[in-house]
Amino acid sequence: MEAGKSAEDVFNISRLYLYINDKAILRDITIKIPNNSIFGIMGPSGSGKSTLLKVLNRLIEIYDSKIKVDGKVLYFGKDIFRIDAIKLRKEVGMVFQQPNPFPHLSIYDNIAYPLKSHGIKEKREIKKIVEECLRKVGLWKEVYDRLNSPASQLSGGQQQRLTIARALALKPKVLLMDEPTSMIDIVNSQAIEKLITELKNEIAIVIVSHNPQQVARVADYVAFLYNGELVEWGSSNEIFTSPKNELTEKYVIGRIS
Ligand code: ADP
Repeated sequence: MEAGKSAEDVFNISRLYLYINDKAILRDITIKIPNNSIFGIMGPSGSGKSTLLKVLNRLIEIYDSKIKVDGKVLYFGKDIFRIDAIKLRKEVGMVFQQPNPFPHLSIYDNIAYPLKSHGIKEKREIKKIVEECLRKVGLWKEVYDRLNSPASQLSGGQQQRLTIARALALKPKVLLMDEPTSMIDIVNSQAIEKLITELKNEIAIVIVSHNPQQVARVADYVAFLYNGELVEWGSSNEIFTSPKNELTEKYVIGRIS
């Protein structure tokens, strides 16, 4: 399947197998993820979506379990496993299902702290980035007068937008999102969906969701995983209007969950 120009592919995954404690969790995955697009990974619970996402910033390596990878994953044309993992994770940000701001740090410091630890020391520069990122996620108006309050005082949806702002502060090239809206209210979910469709002008987004409606709303490309295997992938239009596989069709109309 050809999607996007290969020169612009952020990830080129080819014949990927991933074993955890000798059990194959992902089998024979081949996908290209183009830049400046939203790539949705959907499938029932346990199909390997999160595991695949965690390969893309090598978070998978910090599991306690024994991991073995076969096949190739290229990140902008380079073997992802030969890139410095810290450098990779700075460029490939991640947002989790459960909002995870640093709860005791202030709203301001949630964004300022990672900047400082990446060598940005100048106060004025930090202040500028904090405001810029809070504006981007639509939080500025809600929090500008309480930047020094602990992040734990925000609602769940606000906390999730803060974690997105924190990820954006490091100017990532890719944002990986693992079920980013499944724990938060509808208004904040809509705000996040709107935000990611705006963000794709600047970066690539890979979003995992078990909700095909959400994937249909936001994604340009979609992969459908089932039981560790790639059933099919393609443009959102192809997958939702004329899927090649009967299993995909059943999943998108809600007959498999
Ligand atoms: P999904 O995101 O689609 O719900 P996951 O990627 O979380 O699926 O999990 C896929 C499979 O891998 C599941 O069977 C899960 O039990 C297994 N798995 C995930 N992480 C680990 C781990 N650290 N150790 C052992 N098995 C794991």
